[in-house]
Amino acid sequence: MRIIYFFFFTTLVLTMSIAQKQQHTNSDIHSFANSTEVSVKHLGLELSVNFETKIISGHAMLMLNHKKKTNKLVLDTRDLTIEKVTLDEKEMPTKFSLGDEVKFLGKPLTIVITPKTKSVKIYYRTSPNAGALQWLEPSQTSGKEKPFLFTQSQAILARTWVPCMDGPGVRMTYSATIHTRPDLVAVMSASGNSGTKKSDGVYSFEMEQPIPSYLLALAIGDLQFRPLGNRSGVYAEPSMIEKSANEFVDIEKMISAAEELYGPYRWERYDLLVLPPSFPFGGMENPRLTFATPTILAGDRSLVALVAHELAHSWSGNLVTNATWNDFWVNEGFTVYFEHRIMEKVYGKAYSEMLATLTLKDLKSTIADMGAENPDTHLKLNLLNRDPDDGVTDIAYNKGYFFLRLMEETFGRERWDSFLKTYFNENAFSTMTTEQFLEKLDTHFQIKHSRSFTEKLKISSWVYGPGLPDNCPKPQSDEFDKVLMQVNSFLDGTQASKLNTEGWTTHHWLYFLRNLPDSLRLEKVIELDYAFYFTRSGNSEILSEWFQRCIKVNYETAFGPMRNYLMNVGRRKLIKPLYVELAKTPSGKAWAKEVYTKARPGYHSVSYNTIDGILK
Ligand SMILES: [Zn+2]
Repeated sequence: MRIIYFFFFTTLVLTMSIAQKQQHTNSDIHSFANSTEVSVKHLGLELSVNFETKIISGHAMLMLNHKKKTNKLVLDTRDLTIEKVTLDEKEMPTKFSLGDEVKFLGKPLTIVITPKTKSVKIYYRTSPNAGALQWLEPSQTSGKEKPFLFTQSQAILARTWVPCMDGPGVRMTYSATIHTRPDLVAVMSASGNSGTKKSDGVYSFEMEQPIPSYLLALAIGDLQFRPLGNRSGVYAEPSMIEKSANEFVDIEKMISAAEELYGPYRWERYDLLVLPPSFPFGGMENPRLTFATPTILAGDRSLVALVAHELAHSWSGNLVTNATWNDFWVNEGFTVYFEHRIMEKVYGKAYSEMLATLTLKDLKSTIADMGAENPDTHLKLNLLNRDPDDGVTDIAYNKGYFFLRLMEETFGRERWDSFLKTYFNENAFSTMTTEQFLEKLDTHFQIKHSRSFTEKLKISSWVYGPGLPDNCPKPQSDEFDKVLMQVNSFLDGTQASKLNTEGWTTHHWLYFLRNLPDSLRLEKVIELDYAFYFTRSGNSEILSEWFQRCIKVNYETAFGPMRNYLMNVGRRKLIKPLYVELAKTPSGKAWAKEVYTKARPGYHSVSYNTIDGILK
């Protein structure tokens, strides 16, 4: 997933910690499942999607894999209504019960089985408020005529639309039949996608590679398909399809670059689905079908690093999966590292070093905001009794990246790449804890036996210590040095229109804007706007950065376009800093609240949960 820099400082104390009790049968503190006794190897879904009631109903058939003798199956559910549960092909009704609700985790569903039970079938329906499901009115789509539904299962929201063992440690294959309106197309993180409307509204899917539940994904809307290469293509609403196909034209090059680095792509196809603008994340690595925000459609392919990121997840995360959400950096740190390597291979080192420099700047400001001693700045997290979404900060991504880059710099690229290739190959379709990774690293490079390596790496400060260790690698970007010269020249009095900005990309501009001092006066802001038309930019990242600047000096011209932006964009990473900046003054906060009242119904719960906290 990519990204969302946000975090809560609240400590949540639960009076009754079912999560703690569950540790006896399952090391995943965010799942009730008794997966050490009996596991799920295949999921069969038959679901009807009702856009009128905003409810999905039908049944889930779970094929079991017995590990120990047990008479119960415990699954995760949240906001589900369970109508009936039956056993095996004969559909013998069996007893079941829902436990008490636990915050974030939902309710355990305990089903009576026998040690010989091969499968259970659960008849159920979702709630209109299901956390994973976002139902969009036609007005919230690009085409404005038809509704749209998409799911976001990570981290622990799969249980809000499918009763399952909802932890990254349980892998299953799945098949699904989806019944929907015949004027819409359904797609899933599976094979069976075609982008062609079926006159009966029935779509069938098959996922033959085992995946954890957080990668279950469904989207339904007025979709079209455009191929990009032999094994890649893009799905989008008709009005977005041309723009999308044009933006992602380099996708085949990226897949080849990734394969050259770390071995074969194991999911057959790599397609992208461009969602309506309310999608709260940059992208979600649903296997075979990455979900992506339309805010990366800049028109000049300047924001496609996000695609490299989601593609990289096909190895780190989807193939070798963090064992629990406390090990989240094992998914995201590896993926940012891999993303940068893909970008370097396709677009050159000067480009990827710009990305790395921005990454370090973001990381440092995140750590400053969180506090250098905050335990949430450790790579290995402790999310006991907390929502795993709390762990989704810059730390897992960018501190993880620099930790792995330090390995590359210490062992040399060739040795490091050979280790990583083996790592992905040998651990494909399984899980990895932080400790297992460190052990593999040590076995391969004999770190503990080498004082030089131990001193150079300082592994425990990175993994179990706060802040940024002093041996953090330093990216070197000549391009950004040139940008800083222009910033200084502007501050020394050179007119904005006389600055040398020839050939600048989105990243040059972001770096330019981020390096302007907070004290920059209104006249200078207006001068920049007259020279570079930032307020009218079509680039969502530049707009987010620019509007923050405009709020600081109360540049009124920008407020109309900013209102429009907040009404249309739901990606948390882009809108959150604007609300934070607005909330700093009483008048800004009043304006923000007025806009937010209208914008909120269009945001995903992931975004409005964050913004609610800022404007409360
Ligand atoms: Zn990611």
